[in-house]
Formats: sequence, structure tokens, C-alpha cells
Amino acid sequence: MEKRELVIIGAGPAGLSSAIYGRRAGLDVLLLENGTPGGQINVTNEIENWPGVIHSSGLELGKNFRSHAEHFKPEFRDCTVKKIEIKNGSKIVITDKGEVEAEAIILATGASFRKLGCPGEAEKTGAGVSYCAVCDGAFFQDETIAVIGGGNVAVEEAGYLTRFATKVYVIHRRDEFRADKLAIDQAMANPKIQPVWNSVVQSIEGDGFVEKLVLKNVRTEEIIDLPVAGVFVFVGTEPNISYLGENSSLIKQTRDGWIITNDKMETSVEGIFAAGDIRDKFLRQVVTATGDGAIASVAAYSYITEQLHLNSVLIDPEHVFALITSSIDQNQVKLQVDTEKYAKDSGVKIAFVDGYRNKRIVEKLGLKSLPALVELRKGELIRNIEPKEVAAVKFFVE
Ligand SMILES: Cc1cc2nc3c(=O)[nH]c(=O)nc-3n(C[C@H](O)[C@H](O)[C@H](O)COP(=O)(O)OP(=O)(O)OC[C@H]3O[C@@H](n4cnc5c(N)ncnc54)[C@H](O)[C@@H]3O)c2cc1C
Repeated sequence: MEKRELVIIGAGPAGLSSAIYGRRAGLDVLLLENGTPGGQINVTNEIENWPGVIHSSGLELGKNFRSHAEHFKPEFRDCTVKKIEIKNGSKIVITDKGEVEAEAIILATGASFRKLGCPGEAEKTGAGVSYCAVCDGAFFQDETIAVIGGGNVAVEEAGYLTRFATKVYVIHRRDEFRADKLAIDQAMANPKIQPVWNSVVQSIEGDGFVEKLVLKNVRTEEIIDLPVAGVFVFVGTEPNISYLGENSSLIKQTRDGWIITNDKMETSVEGIFAAGDIRDKFLRQVVTATGDGAIASVAAYSYITEQLHLNSVLIDPEHVFALITSSIDQNQVKLQVDTEKYAKDSGVKIAFVDGYRNKRIVEKLGLKSLPALVELRKGELIRNIEPKEVAAVKFFVE
């Protein structure tokens, strides 16, 4: 089977940033993507909050991200990831173009638009129902259309759609938008935008193409018909995690499926990291996705090098004594120094591991506390003690 050091799934801002950091750290990087590199930003017209660039189209920024990543020569592969499996401790990425074993994986598959789930939505997708203003806005020249949602994306994309449409209703279930103040001010000052407050879509109807929305006022329960030629749905996003399986137990997620990580982007599975919109996080934007990607790659690099080191000193040898101490405990540091001197003088081979920095190996060996002096045979723990001083080490190894 093909073996790679770092496999990154998804070439949006998070994945491309991970690729840059991974390659600069000297890792062998394989980047798997089933769409256009650049991710979600490819479908937005304006990006005004990527530092250093006052204004860019999403497509242009996505292209720049890709060229920047290409400069460091990761391998790009056009394929869809179908599944991830852990077999005998190895991490296997299963794609529609074969299987790859990875030393570390970064999940950067982002998020997709959430659907309304009302009657007519699925049937009229592509026949007046859209989730991408840049892709489909121009089809609605001089028409009346609707945007559903009240967050930043809805409010900003409504503004963009007024370039084509004569009128854009923005249908929101509350009585105020949840977007940034600047975006709201711009929308409210745009004479072509008309908010429809406290309303939800009951159904999308029309003979072939969309002709009207049936709306319900959540306060008065009043039902009205709103004639429109098209509807753009921006009611939030959901994580792209289908390759983790339904109700995946492989990797810890929130109830809604967002991947839970710590601040090193480590997921609940050793050697699997997550970055960008797929994570359970406060702000899903380009700037946070790229930051996550950088952290995930640096953490993956430490993981891979630590694993190599630990394997070579602890797991691969036929037989080994190892002293595992915490580098932040003065008594344990002294024990390590004394033991190093004893090992040098006596010629007894002892490996030294910082258990504070390598918590996973401490857990893996089932050690309850440090310091620990262990005897391993082919990576299997045979016996261990908690030595207080070098005399105990001497007694154990002789
Ligand atoms: C309309 C719109 C406007 C926006 N405007 C702004 C803005 O102005 N400023 C801003 O900062 N952010 C904006 N955002 C948000 C921003 O685009 C996202 O936060 C950012 O793209 C997240 O990056 P990501 O890399 O985590 O995920 P994504 O960009 O979602 O990239 C994930 C990639 O993974 C790929 N993928 C998914 N599943 C698989 C699989 N199984 N196998 C292989 N590949 C897979 C996808 O094709 C995609 O390319 C906007 C988003 C939208 C939709």
C-alpha cells in the first residue's frame, strides 16, 4: 500500500495552509481534494477581511492560496475520500482512487451549506434554488429574488445579488440580522434590498422553475405567498464528515458533527488532526481556517518526529530499559541526570524519555505516574517500577 508522511484531506484555506507549513517543515505531503482547490471561498465574490488584501474576489484569493502551496511542491491528488480506518494502529485513508497509509492525517474538509429541508427545495435546486450567488446570480438579471438567512453570508450575498436583480427580499426568522454591523449598514442602505422579518419558508413552489415562496410569520402565524423567480439559501453550514461514517465513533464530534480538537488541533485519535471549518469553533472564516491549518501541520510534524524517535528508542528494539521522567519536576530531572551518569559508568543501556512532552506514550504503556523505569521487549511492557533514586534503578537493571 502507498505510504505517506502527512495526508491532508481538503484543499480549502485550511488544507492549503497546512500543505505550506507541512512542506516547509520538510514533510512528504499528499493533499487530497475532490473539487476546486480554494474551497468555499471560490463561490464568494468579495473577501475584505483577509489581512494585507483590502479587496479580492474569492476565486482570486483561492488561486493565490493554491499557487502559494504549489510553490512548496506538495502532491495534489484529485480524488474523494470515502473512509478513514485504523488497522493495527495504522491510519488508512480510503479514496475512490486507492488507499494510502499515513503517519499523520489532517482533516480539512470544511463545511457545506445547510439545507432548509422544506418542500420544493430539493426538486427546484438548479431550477431557481441556489446556494451560490457568484455561480448563479447572473441568471436573475432584472428579476425579483429572495435570500434566506440573516448572518454575514446572507446579508453580504444579498448585496452582491442586487447587481443583477431589481429586488432582493431577505427572509429572516428573527427581527434583526446577526451579521457584522458594516454588512448590515450596507444592506439596509441598499434600496434594492427588502428584509422580511420573523418569517420562515414553508415551501418553494412553481411550475418547473421557482415562481413563489410560501412564507409563515412566526409571530402572527400568517401565511403569505411571495412571488420570486429565484431563491438563494444561506442558513448556515454543516461539516463535511460523510467519510467518517454515520454517527462516527472513530473521532469525537459535537452532536451536530463538528470535530472536537484541542488547541494543537489534535482530535480524539492520535495522529489525526482537524483544521478549519470542520472543527467545533467560534469563528469560521478564512483567517481562522489558515491559522488552524498552520497549527495542525506543526503539531503533525512534532507527532511524526516524536513517533519516529519513540519507535526507535522504545518500540523497535528487541529489549530495552527506559527511564521516563517529567522534565518539569526537579526531583525527576535529578534522577535522570544521576541515572545517565550511572548508565555511562556501568555501560548499562538505558533509554531516556521525557514523559511530560510525550504523554501519549505514558498513556500507551499504562503508566499511572512518573518517574517510571520500564523494561520492554519488542515494545511490550514486561515490568516497571517508580524509582525514587538511582539505587532503585541499579537494582532493577542488574
Ligand atoms: C458564500 C461565502 C462567502 C464567504 N465569505 C467569507 C469572507 O468574506 N471572509 C472569510 O474570511 N470567510 C468567508 N467565508 C467562509 C470561508 O470561505 C471558510 O471559512 C473557509 O473557506 C474554510 O476553509 P476550510 O479549508 O476549512 O474549508 P473549505 O473552504 O470548505 O474547504 C474544504 C475542501 O475540502 C474538500 N473536500 C470536502 N470533502 C472532501 C472529501 N471527502 N474528499 C476530498 N476533498 C473533500 C472540498 O471540496 C473543499 O475544497 C465565506 C463562505 C461562503 C460560502
